[in-house]
Amino acid sequence: MSEPLVSDEKLTRLRNSFAHVTVDLVNHSADAPRTVTTPVLPFSTMTEADWRAAVMHWRQHADAILAGVGTRGCPACGAGESREIFTSYDAHRFHECAGCGCWFTPKRVDWSVFETLFARSPEARDLAARMMESRDRTAGREADMARIGRYLDDVLPLLPVTGERFYLDAGCGVGHSLRAGLERGLRVQGVEVDTTAIEIARGEGLPVVDPSQDLPPGPYHLLSFWETLEHIADPKGALEQFVPLLHEDGLVAITVPNLNALEGRALRESCSWVHGGYNTPGHVNLFHESALRVLLSRVGLTLLDARGEYSADVENLTASLMGLTRGAFDVLAGRPTARTVPAAMSLLLNQVWPGLKLFEELALASPILHVVACRSGREHRFESGIAKRRQAARTAILQAAADLIRMEPDWKAIAQHLDAEVKRQAQVMASLQGEVDLRDGLLERERDRYAKTVDGRLLRVKQLTGGALRRMGLLR
Ligand SMILES: [Zn+2]
Repeated sequence: MSEPLVSDEKLTRLRNSFAHVTVDLVNHSADAPRTVTTPVLPFSTMTEADWRAAVMHWRQHADAILAGVGTRGCPACGAGESREIFTSYDAHRFHECAGCGCWFTPKRVDWSVFETLFARSPEARDLAARMMESRDRTAGREADMARIGRYLDDVLPLLPVTGERFYLDAGCGVGHSLRAGLERGLRVQGVEVDTTAIEIARGEGLPVVDPSQDLPPGPYHLLSFWETLEHIADPKGALEQFVPLLHEDGLVAITVPNLNALEGRALRESCSWVHGGYNTPGHVNLFHESALRVLLSRVGLTLLDARGEYSADVENLTASLMGLTRGAFDVLAGRPTARTVPAAMSLLLNQVWPGLKLFEELALASPILHVVACRSGREHRFESGIAKRRQAARTAILQAAADLIRMEPDWKAIAQHLDAEVKRQAQVMASLQGEVDLRDGLLERERDRYAKTVDGRLLRVKQLTGGALRRMGLLR
């Protein structure tokens, strides 16, 4: 019989851990519940009031505007067949593709949709301009650069080319990615549709063009789409525009919100990042790994490797599953967003989740999906690099698991310690016994000596007494 994948003992311990925790939960159900105040909004760069106002402006006009907007098939596989699954909090109907399963707005939502909104509502335009300005100028530039820098450091070692390397970022925003590229000695070029962002980037000397302008022809060794493809009504068209500029042995790096992330799957239309957009195109396409693989194959690219990043907001997820919040709908309605969950439950989730996060990563169910792809037919150029990258990912996940396991009580060490203690006690007992034996020996000898002395004296007394009695004729 073959070895089981996971030992019975481990599975039993896992199952029974839940049983033990349930006992605690039942016994402590009267404890003060914990108030959870995880923000529902994903972006720290806008106030809740601005966000609510912007979404409400859009919702007033959404149906009328979207009625005049054309439709599209699946943005990933191109299938025409899909079914409506919900209307998002920002009034976009979402469909699930019958072919590849990706989620998308069947309406072709692009910037022109919001130009129509701004023509109808100057208030919406002013609000959007203000939100954009604060996002572009301040929005955690350092954090953004550090994050993209990490992606670059992850991907650049895979390139089988040396010497000067050209980097093209599609959807570069105000150019944080380009700055991160320059820091790593790359020659950089950005493309962006947002004119405000282009102005800001150019003002800081960064080379950014809009898609209608000519690009330096490359070829580019790295082409990136950092959280961009989910915003584009025709992602295949966008890829087709840039892929011809890719070096024969170049790489395409992509991050997208992950359709298989637990929060998106569980919260659906009330999830803050499941939205079609209220003043810029939102997440009009939501891909999982397999949908991205299909999309890439349609433009002559092969997905080489995928991994997940970050983790679900477990308290928000639980509060939603327990029906304690309606997510974005609560924020829109101005209802309090603080939720209360039983204290023991909160403790349980926060202590247990680091272990489940490892499953999230293994199952590619983390909130952000990060993939790398190459030209189909050139996979062999990346084989060893990708194998190393996978091995590094495995090592990292095993390390994270080992760090958790290290905190576990070491039953073997405890047993050895107890064993040693028992032996030490036995030695103490043995040495005490020695003392007792010694005492007993001494007593024994003393008793013998005493007894002999007494016996001698008695004998002597007897002899003396006997002699006297005989002399007195009383004893023969
Ligand atoms: Zn599809």
